[in-house]
Amino acid sequence: MSELIDSFEQLRLSQPLLETLKEIGYEAPSPIQAATIPPLLEGADVLGQAQTGTGKTAAFALPILERLNLAERLPQALVLAPTRELAIQVAEAFQGYARHLPGFHVLPIYGGQSMGIQLRHLKRGVHVVVGTPGRVMDHLRRETLSLAGLRTVVLDEADEMLRMGFIDDVDWILEQTPAERQIALFSATMPEPIRQVAHRHLREPREVKIKASTATVETVRQRYCQVGPQHKLDALTRVLEVEDADAVLIFVRTKIAATELSERLEARGYPSAALHGDMTQVLREKTIEQLKNNQLDIVVATDVAARGLDVSRISHVVNYDIPYDTEAYVHRIGRTARAGRTGDAILFVAPRELRMLRAIEKATRQPIERMQLPTQEAITGHRLAQFKQQVSEILGSQDLEFFQEVVAEIEREQEISAQDIAAALTWLAQRDRPFQFEDTIPSELERLPVRPEREPRSAPGRRERFAREGGKRDTDLDKVTYRLEVGHQHGATPQNIVGAIANEAGIESRYIGRIEIYDQYSTVDLPDGMPKEIFQHLKKVRVRQYPLKISRLDEADVGDQRPAPRRASTAKKIPREETNPPVARKVRKRDS
Ligand code: AMP
Repeated sequence: MSELIDSFEQLRLSQPLLETLKEIGYEAPSPIQAATIPPLLEGADVLGQAQTGTGKTAAFALPILERLNLAERLPQALVLAPTRELAIQVAEAFQGYARHLPGFHVLPIYGGQSMGIQLRHLKRGVHVVVGTPGRVMDHLRRETLSLAGLRTVVLDEADEMLRMGFIDDVDWILEQTPAERQIALFSATMPEPIRQVAHRHLREPREVKIKASTATVETVRQRYCQVGPQHKLDALTRVLEVEDADAVLIFVRTKIAATELSERLEARGYPSAALHGDMTQVLREKTIEQLKNNQLDIVVATDVAARGLDVSRISHVVNYDIPYDTEAYVHRIGRTARAGRTGDAILFVAPRELRMLRAIEKATRQPIERMQLPTQEAITGHRLAQFKQQVSEILGSQDLEFFQEVVAEIEREQEISAQDIAAALTWLAQRDRPFQFEDTIPSELERLPVRPEREPRSAPGRRERFAREGGKRDTDLDKVTYRLEVGHQHGATPQNIVGAIANEAGIESRYIGRIEIYDQYSTVDLPDGMPKEIFQHLKKVRVRQYPLKISRLDEADVGDQRPAPRRASTAKKIPREETNPPVARKVRKRDS
């Protein structure tokens, strides 16, 4: 990883992209960007080991955009992603980074979306296609997607594609690409089958790996809180309420986020200041001085601005946005526990960032303790306790004679008991900061189980709800057994069945239950209540080119004599984590 690159200008990106990065508040390239952008701009192949949260999307999107010929409306880059959700997300990222590239077109293509829409867009001409392997293959077979003008292929989350049984499809797609193209392969892990794909298709790739600096940080108590992006501000408020903190340093990714978060904290009654690279040196120094002198207790900073910050009263570091790599994490939490003191580090992790959390634990060789979000009751209790403490302190330290007289007067004049007067005054004292704390975090999130799930994109409709939750937030849902008309004879494996259903119907693989594979067909347990449109779509979804023709087993014409499954190992529930990667096979050419 190059230590020398600390600005996007150094990466020699052109003005429109630099302008965009400035506008969206990126201060400096993340390590994976610093290492990947230069070789990709040169046209070299890259084998990158990086997970979500490292900034890898921009690491490949920026050089692709830089090298595009906008006048040529042919797909010049193809990004393969394991899920439709990621495909959409990556396409959105492209669109965002291309805001100053007029006429730029990116198209996500994935199963479950009407072919018609995709065909229309393809016909009109697009520069970048981001797709799931199954649907990209469909288009290639139908010759509705031309790869003739392709210059770059990106395999995003390659290990996830392997896990979902798409690796042969990826192999096949790569074989259809022109000889002179560049490939960037990104994967959080590098299992052998991925290395084989890299070996077969990449030419002298530059290997890029996020440095896993190991460091012990024993004087810092490390905790994490699982919270989705939409609840982070409320979660921060709760943490600030209950933690016994002196000064708090909060880390975010962008300059804009630093300013915004600081303003939002102010609006909620927590005085704070931002600290980022766009501020003048004088202003930065002033902020740090205020923090040192107890004039300020909360600072919201970017990594760049907080480099080397040494303020001994920082008792807490909050990683509001997850760091790009373990090195940044170690540096961030090193801003507390200064001058022989101890410190606290709290990390906010979205479900899809749990992998980065594990990488951090490995690098710091310390488990990071799971922390429940402080509950509303806990905050109410905390505020009450503070108030009671204040009352007793005032009684012990202030001369209250005049005020006692006032109370006695009210008692006499209005015939109200001292208790009632005290109650009214207590209400008055908490009016601006009510004891009974309320925010928008739903109470079930206070006890959210730890599970690696992806963030919902937006308010889900019936279809999305079924896909994500099977109608309920529970993996032990009522299941229905379905029959699929693909079996051993067709080359079906649990992985490619899970992959096809998960991706094409958008059902998360953890809701896909027992799979049994027979010679001619297979059975699979899926949550009850499958909407008709998903059912109809699944009939047409293909595994190894054969349509699933899904039907309910209780309605299917299977006869009484069901043969026993040939492989006992397939006759079990396949949670995502346990799905073994299929052994790499020789690539089978498909008919077009
Ligand atoms: P990714 O690892 O590609 O999923 O990116 C994770 C998040 O980091 C996204 O929200 C990006 O917008 C953000 N991000 C990527 N690169 C940078 C950067 N250089 N500075 C600040 N934020 C970034």
